[in-house]
Amino acid sequence: MREILIISGKGGTGKTSLTAAFAHLADNKIICDLDVDTPDLHLLLQPRHERVMEFHAGNEAQIEQDGCTGCGTCEEMCRFNAISQRDGVYSVDTLRCEGCKVCVAFCPEQTILFPEKYCGTWYRSSTRFGTMVHAQLFPGEENSGRLVTLLRQEARKIALENNIDLILSDGAPGVGCPVISSLSGAHCAVLVTEPTPSGRHDLERVATLCDHFRIRAGVIINKADINPDEARIIEQYCREKDYPLLAQLPHDPVITEAMVKARAVTELGETEIGKSIRQAWKKIEQFAG
Ligand code: SF4
Ligand code: SF4
Repeated sequence: MREILIISGKGGTGKTSLTAAFAHLADNKIICDLDVDTPDLHLLLQPRHERVMEFHAGNEAQIEQDGCTGCGTCEEMCRFNAISQRDGVYSVDTLRCEGCKVCVAFCPEQTILFPEKYCGTWYRSSTRFGTMVHAQLFPGEENSGRLVTLLRQEARKIALENNIDLILSDGAPGVGCPVISSLSGAHCAVLVTEPTPSGRHDLERVATLCDHFRIRAGVIINKADINPDEARIIEQYCREKDYPLLAQLPHDPVITEAMVKARAVTELGETEIGKSIRQAWKKIEQFAG
């Protein structure tokens, strides 16, 4: 089974617009949005939820008031200042609780519960391009890497059950935990960059990460014509590092038009940018093997 991951190292490169177009063009695939903190592929694909599942990870303290004698030990012991007292009632600030379990261990009345934390929701959905798995982590929650792993497992399971041999994943921006969880074991990565110094810098970081995990990486320079000099520097970098340059796409307002219409750009009839993206997808398919 092939798993093609589209990543960018930074936000705003047009990665999600391109992923939506590739989802339109690819045959027989599962679509996966692995940006669980700020997902946006659903805005273009408008999924219909078929399964909605809670995502639980880590634990948090919860004081059962009935058993609490108000001794204050938990407040003293919590080094994250997550426990406070008001009018004699002790409570836990869940945003501060780090789940260290110290208060649970030291409460003389054993009245602090330690349930699993409800951190977000994940979905199995249908879209006009096929099945999609995606999620939304609640604001401020951690464990994004675990949620990404869960989504990938679910995507593989659905693919195996339905004889599908391609998973097309839209990765998170940056090089943090969710991107690392997306990369390990992926078939290949497509790195979408833009011709600016910061785009190049972020491309280098994410490309280094791919090398670390021994994931083959190809590059797309999006909006290449807005800064031809920078585009040439990136081209040179790809040559030196042996990253195939899969496409250089021009800036085209049709991309924005597609976003406003909640469509993949390749759905808007015969356009120049649509033609270039189709060629890029053919190259990606060859690259993925
Ligand atoms: S340590 Fe236990 S009994 Fe004491 S204030 Fe905290 S919750 Fe209440
Ligand atoms: S689990 Fe740890 S961080 Fe959370 S309230 Fe208890 S002592 Fe504080």
